[in-house]
Amino acid sequence: MTGPGVPVRPDLRELDGYHSPQVDVDVRLNTNESPLPPPEQWLAEVRDEMGSIDFNRYPDREAVALRQALAQFHGVDVARVFAANGSNEVLQCLLLAYGGAGRTVALFEPTYALHRHIALITATEVVSAWRGPDHRLDLDEVDRVLAESDPVITFVCSPNNPTGRAETPDTVAHVLARARGLVVVDEAYGQFASWSALELARQQRPETARLVVVRTFSKTWSMAACRLGYLVAHPDVVAACAMVALPYHLDAMTQLAGRLALGHVAAMEQRVALLTEERGRIAAALGEMAVDSWPSDANFILFRPVHRSARQVWEHLLASSVLVRDCSTWPGLDECLRVTVGTPEENDRFLAALGAALEEGP
Ligand code: PMP
Repeated sequence: MTGPGVPVRPDLRELDGYHSPQVDVDVRLNTNESPLPPPEQWLAEVRDEMGSIDFNRYPDREAVALRQALAQFHGVDVARVFAANGSNEVLQCLLLAYGGAGRTVALFEPTYALHRHIALITATEVVSAWRGPDHRLDLDEVDRVLAESDPVITFVCSPNNPTGRAETPDTVAHVLARARGLVVVDEAYGQFASWSALELARQQRPETARLVVVRTFSKTWSMAACRLGYLVAHPDVVAACAMVALPYHLDAMTQLAGRLALGHVAAMEQRVALLTEERGRIAAALGEMAVDSWPSDANFILFRPVHRSARQVWEHLLASSVLVRDCSTWPGLDECLRVTVGTPEENDRFLAALGAALEEGP
């Protein structure tokens, strides 16, 4: 069929597809979701309360009840919370409000691909530099980029996807002290780390007015299907994001599901504890195999087969119905694969299949 013959924006042509293949396999360890379902009790509450939604009416445009619950959960004022369809939409709102033509954002590779991707979609210039050898921010590089480009947003992904380490409080404080623009700390995996920039956000010092902490329900809350994320920031940032979000962007079911989830914090923490323990078990097992691997503060581990190509290992795992993420074409991640921590059984399947993949002849 012939196309419409209308060219898309020329600046979009350099966009790579980001998407991870959605292959039907037994063990899906490629997109960092929780392998565990949310609590039964939560599901029962969602079913009950769903009946009281006025489906013929638009949802609460301000998502007040959800935002109030989030504000209470984090001990901040409701005016400091903005919620949207996944943290990706939160990031998009930030870039729509603060990025755009003639503005620059900074990021440090290798990092979460959507920071660059959404910047490009919103016609925002991206300056990037490399992380240090341990995959944490190199403060000299941070200083250089901030001095040279004065970015309107500096992205700090902590723990960093796909490499796994969290930044220290000193590093985030350093970036905040040097940056004149917003510092967006993407904490999609925040509960797996021992420290959160939310501690800084609560302090409300002059420099923390530029701090934005972004979180999601997709990982630790076992709610990736809902598409819910939020930020905690200065009320001006919340107002700016609300200005660019589409009217009624967050549907009533998602608002309800998120609000009810916050009544099950202990269950969420139990799941995080189990996955953190499993992360330790996988890391120890990888340490005995012919792979290089990096320490992780998240629910995934980055590793590099020593004697075999990442593609060969990825294909071998797939043939065993285990899907991991092939990161080998991403900047700075030659021959690297990333595995999401699954259930104990899934992790056993992964480790057995990986062992076999590494042992196979050349
Ligand atoms: N930030 C990071 C660092 C992520 O890894 C992800 C998920 N891959 C997101 C944000 C987006 O998550 P969601 O849109 O599901 O909230």
